[in-house]
Order: sequence, then structure tokens, then C-alpha cells
Amino acid sequence: MHLLVIGGSDAGISAALRAHELAPDTEITLLLADDYPNFSICGLPYFLSGETPDWRDLAHRSEFPGIDVRRRHVARSIDPGARRVRVEHDGRERDIDYDRLVIATGARPIRPSLPGSDLDGVFLLHTMDDSFAVKNHIAHRHPRTAAIVGAGYIGIEMADALTQTGIAVTLFSRSETVLPTVDPSLGRLIQTELERHDVRVETGVGVERIEQVAGGESASLSLTDSSGRLHQADLILLAVGVRPDSDLARAAGANLGARDAIAISRAMETSLPDVFAAGDCVETHHRQLADPTYISLGTIAHKQGRVAGENALGGDRRFPGTLGTQAIKIFDLAVARSGLSDSEAVAAGLAPLTVEVTANDHKGYYPGATPLTIRMTGDRHTGRLIGAQILGHRGAEISKRIDIVAAALHHYAGVDDLNDLDLSYTPPFSSPWDPVQIAAQAWLAAARD
Ligand SMILES: Cc1cc2nc3c(=O)[nH]c(=O)nc-3n(C[C@H](O)[C@H](O)[C@H](O)COP(=O)(O)OP(=O)(O)OC[C@H]3O[C@@H](n4cnc5c(N)ncnc54)[C@H](O)[C@@H]3O)c2cc1C
Repeated sequence: MHLLVIGGSDAGISAALRAHELAPDTEITLLLADDYPNFSICGLPYFLSGETPDWRDLAHRSEFPGIDVRRRHVARSIDPGARRVRVEHDGRERDIDYDRLVIATGARPIRPSLPGSDLDGVFLLHTMDDSFAVKNHIAHRHPRTAAIVGAGYIGIEMADALTQTGIAVTLFSRSETVLPTVDPSLGRLIQTELERHDVRVETGVGVERIEQVAGGESASLSLTDSSGRLHQADLILLAVGVRPDSDLARAAGANLGARDAIAISRAMETSLPDVFAAGDCVETHHRQLADPTYISLGTIAHKQGRVAGENALGGDRRFPGTLGTQAIKIFDLAVARSGLSDSEAVAAGLAPLTVEVTANDHKGYYPGATPLTIRMTGDRHTGRLIGAQILGHRGAEISKRIDIVAAALHHYAGVDDLNDLDLSYTPPFSSPWDPVQIAAQAWLAAARD
């Protein structure tokens, strides 16, 4: 049995590790296009901010026992009939045969098709090499100003990171509020936090073009926004999202699904025989949605990779589905979500009711209590929990609280089940009713009205 894995990040490494764990005698070859197997690209903003000064520390692991890891080996094509992959390394091509194949080619950042988007000083951020390019630019060109196009979580994390290096940041958001994956009321609180740290936030504007500015030591680029205004920047980061890297699979004849990601079964099988796929290159099953969707998250990639690795060896594991649970730090704030928002629930044909409450993270008489804003959504007909979003101080255990919600959602709990949970309490950490339970009680009261 020869298992070949294409992709050396979260999904590919998870698949290979699981296969090796289950059957140590299996011959496993893993190809990756760059030099950085299993690096945490989620940590790139912290490398660029200087909080994690050494890029080597971003490696999830550096030893891969039982796995033949081949760096700078780029898969060029797959012949599923012959079970063979054409691979390029150091300018030479050769074929590698497989018995089972896992495709884990990830995603590519979208470079918007606006004039000047490929000029010197304009960056994307997805790979280690992308981060080195930004780091070099900062080290050698000493930018004083940066424009970030896109106010999703990567754009916002980078606004935080670049500000920490002393660069004055302007953040452009096409939507009316930043971080459109959370509701506008939370987006406005995030904007306030960004502005409190001197990030200029331009909402409801797109970017039309980027141009080189002649002369000047570092001020090198100008950006024209959709209302015709001109902005100067020494560094521009384009963070407008990713698209699944499904080209290899498509060319081999694999079916594509949501957002042109590789279509997969719950067992992570593609439509090609003995070919599995996982991570940002595939569509994602969501526990609350009938149809597959597309969400690119490291948490999902790890889980899907593990399932693909097990099943490639003949296992019978199913990916349980995601809830899109995620958290993000913005300066002194943390914000997190799990499940569906009100508008997503409406789109899914549900009848949501959403309440917003504010409650202290722990008892007010113990020093350091800070308010949490919690938006909780449940189904007004069935009482089932649909989702929650939580925002508060970064020290306020936001992740713990969203994970309570995620665990409840995973088991299709009702909002009242949240209230029944036996959660921990001591005054420095919480209250006898945790803020999540206070939100559940507010929801139950609103549902009764
Ligand atoms: C800045 C940033 C911050 C993030 N923060 C978070 C976070 O906080 N939480 C979270 O859950 N997620 C986060 N993510 C998303 C997360 O990093 C991705 O979902 C995850 O990396 C996906 O893993 P993957 O293995 O599917 O693909 P990728 O990480 O994209 O890796 C793809 C792999 O395939 C290889 N490859 C591609 N094509 C070929 C080819 N033809 N031949 C050989 N090898 C190939 C690449 O070299 C690479 O090794 C973040 C992403 C970024 C960029």
C-alpha cells in the first residue's frame, strides 16, 4: 500500500499522521510545494507583529516519523486511471504511483482584478513565503503607512499586527461594518476598538485601483477608492478572501461542489476512485445546513485530514460536519462565533429569534470584571439553539464560552439546555449563572413574549 498525499499543511499532514498511526507499515509519501511542512499559517500575523519573533516557532511539528516528506515537490497532474501523479522538483518532472491518494492542496488568496494589484509593495498573505515578503518589505523599506483591503478576520488581525510594528494602518471594508461574519452591532464595537488603536477604518468602500507614486523614499503607492478618493500607502495588503485550490483535482476529472471546491462525501472521498481530499480545497459539510458549503478554517482541515487518512487505509470514519466555530483577537478584544447568525438562519429556512445581552465575565466585586456582549440565536418554533456570537475583553475567556455553545450545538441542544449545564463558577472567573446562561435566559424570556 502506497499512500500519496499532495499538500503539507493542516489537512495533508493530518491525513498522513493518522494513516501512519493506524498502519505504521504503510508507505506514505507527502508532497508539498514549498519548504514549510505543517507550519501554522494561522500564526503569520503574530510573526509579522513581532509577538512570535522566530518564524521557526510556527511549526506545529518538525519531525514526521514514517512519512517521506518531499519539499518543493509540486504535483502537476493526476492520472486517476493509471493511479499516477506527475511531480515537478528542481525543474525536472517524474511520475509517482499510488494506491490511494489524498489531495490537500488548500486554498489560494484571491488577488482582486483591479489595476495595480500586482505592483511592488502590494502583498497577499497565505504562505510562509508571503509573510517573508511582507517582513522583508518592512525591514528594508521601512513603510510608515499601510492600507489593508478587506476587513475579514485576516485583514483585521493584520491591522492589529502592523499597528504593533508602528505602521499607521487604514483598513478598507466593502461592507458597512467590519468582520461581516459577525452581526453589525458587534462589527461596530470592533471598529471602535480598531479606531481606539489609531487604525483608520473606511467602511462601505471598495478599492478601484492601485498606482505607483514616483519619487519619495518609501511612500510608493496610491490607492483610489470607490468614491474616487486617493489614499497614500507604503505597503498594501490584499485580504479579500480565498478560493479553493481545486485545479489539480478538476483537471483530473473530479467533481466540484460549493464555490468550486472539490466535491466530497462525508468519508472525504472524491468522485475519483481511491482519491480522497480534505481541507481548504474541499467543500464542507455543516451540521446545520442541508447542502455543503465552503468554509476555510484550520480546525476543519485538521479534522477532515484525519478522516481522509483513516479512510484512505480502508477505514469507515465520517467527518461530523462543522459549525464554523471561530475566534479572533483584535487588540484588547476577542470576538467569537459558532453556528448560524440570524440572517444565515433565515437563508437556511429557519425561524430565528436573536437576543443581545451584556453581562460581566465574572463577579463585579472581584477586580477586573469586564462586560461581554452576547448575541444568541435560537429557533422560535422549536427552541433549538442556532448560534451565538460573543465579544469582550481578550482576557474574558471568550473562547471557553463560545466552545460551550459549540458543544451544545454539536448535540443539537435547545437554548434551555444551555441553562441546565453544570458550568464551573468561582468569582474571579464567572458567576453562578455563566454569561452564556444569562443570554440563554434572556432568549427564553423573549421567546415567551
Ligand atoms: C493569516 C491566516 C490566519 C489564519 N487564522 C486561522 C485561525 O485563527 N483559525 C483557523 O481555524 N484557521 C485560520 N486560518 C485558516 C487556516 O490556516 C487554513 O484553513 C488551513 O491552513 C488550511 O489547511 P490546508 O492543509 O487545507 O491548506 P493550506 O494551509 O492552504 O496548505 C496547502 C498545502 O498544499 C501544498 N500544495 C498546494 N498545491 C500543491 C501542489 N500542486 N503540489 C504539492 N503541494 C501543493 C502547499 O504547499 C501547502 O503545503 C488562517 C489562515 C491565514 C492565511
